[in-house]
Amino acid sequence: MSAAAAGAARVGLELTGDQKALRAAVRRLCESFDQEYWRQLDAGREYPQAFVNALTEGGYLAALIPAAYGGAGLGLAEASLILEEINRSGGNAAACHAQMYIMGTLLRHGNDAQKQRYLPGIASGRLRLQAFGVTEPSAGSDTTSITTTAVRDGSRYIVNGQKCWTSRMQHSDLMLLLARTSPLSDDPKQKTFGLSAFLVDLHQARPGTIDVRPIRTMMNHETNEVFIHDLDVPLDSLIGEEGLGFRYILDGMNAERILIAAECIGDGRFFTERAVAYSRERVVFGRPIGQNQGVQFPIAHAHAALEAADLVRRQAAELFDAGKACGAEANMAKLLASEASWQAANAAMDAHGGYGFAEEYDIERKFRETRLYITAPVANNLVLSYVGEHILGMPRSF
Ligand SMILES: Cc1cc2nc3c(=O)[nH]c(=O)nc-3n(C[C@H](O)[C@H](O)[C@H](O)COP(=O)(O)OP(=O)(O)OC[C@H]3O[C@@H](n4cnc5c(N)ncnc54)[C@H](O)[C@@H]3O)c2cc1C
Repeated sequence: MSAAAAGAARVGLELTGDQKALRAAVRRLCESFDQEYWRQLDAGREYPQAFVNALTEGGYLAALIPAAYGGAGLGLAEASLILEEINRSGGNAAACHAQMYIMGTLLRHGNDAQKQRYLPGIASGRLRLQAFGVTEPSAGSDTTSITTTAVRDGSRYIVNGQKCWTSRMQHSDLMLLLARTSPLSDDPKQKTFGLSAFLVDLHQARPGTIDVRPIRTMMNHETNEVFIHDLDVPLDSLIGEEGLGFRYILDGMNAERILIAAECIGDGRFFTERAVAYSRERVVFGRPIGQNQGVQFPIAHAHAALEAADLVRRQAAELFDAGKACGAEANMAKLLASEASWQAANAAMDAHGGYGFAEEYDIERKFRETRLYITAPVANNLVLSYVGEHILGMPRSF
């Protein structure tokens, strides 16, 4: 890619010197984990433990934890650069991205004792808080309909229910769990009340109370069904006030959406860089295939979509770091970036012809990985419904 193409949209959005240094350091770290590393893990659906260890040791996963608790005290602008760079290198940040942001609920809504108890361990990597138990089979995108209950019984809560798609559960010490502590109200305005957030120490669970069943997915993603039966949760595991958990979790979702957008931008860059390189080299009918506009234009189009999505993602991160409302920008960044990376994935697949399907070119692996973000952590239809209702003031659809 020419310098003009890579730099044109950066006018007024130049990275600071520290941000450039951060990106370069992450790039160097990623270079030690080549494509063969990711290919083999993908084939065996194995967890990238060595990579996650290296990121942890470098302090990258503690980017958002304040220095007072042993973290790097950086903003979302920097955290998102880290994840973007991992995906741009051909890696997959989904294996550990949640270690960066799930703790935000604890940081913003936990009490001092909880923060002192857990945040230093999360910052050092001794404690892995990267399981987020929200989605349930019967509720799907309609989170307020979840039926997992936490019933108070003296000095504890007793939790029963089922979660699905709980990722990284087998590589976590702690899980942030959303459960119902009072029944769903008939009043639509009260629908979000009655859900509570708990920080569950998975090592304290009595045997038989948590049953984890892996779900094999089309890409390498450690995700699970989780069956919870009479799980004792101490009262001091409750984050913030009982009944307000949905609000606390929503608050953390803006960070999640911005970070996912950054990963999509990283994926998209991977695809366009690979597609450009290949279409320059591959000669058919006596000329490089990239000379054909039928090959060139989809890649150029994807590049333009990525640049646009990147601007919204940067704006969202800037607002988040300034403590300003960023729901609109965070949601739109996730929508646009996931669409742009998927557009880039298809352009790269087409440019590679049959070789796009061969494992050794890495396109098919990244193609499978990036597709996830149209659906999760929130389906793009739900983002569009947020934009329609909350930004444009259109009638509520559900
Ligand atoms: C690999 C993977 C990892 C995941 N990790 C986690 C995790 O760690 N923790 C967690 O809690 N969850 C996780 N999820 C769950 C994820 O957040 C959900 O899959 C996602 O929110 C969509 O919910 P659903 O699958 O139940 O789809 P559904 O809600 O059943 O939706 C199915 C389809 O219908 C559409 N739809 C539904 N309602 C409407 C509507 N009103 N208007 C228009 N369209 C609609 C959706 O857009 C979607 O296309 C993960 C999912 C996957 C696939």
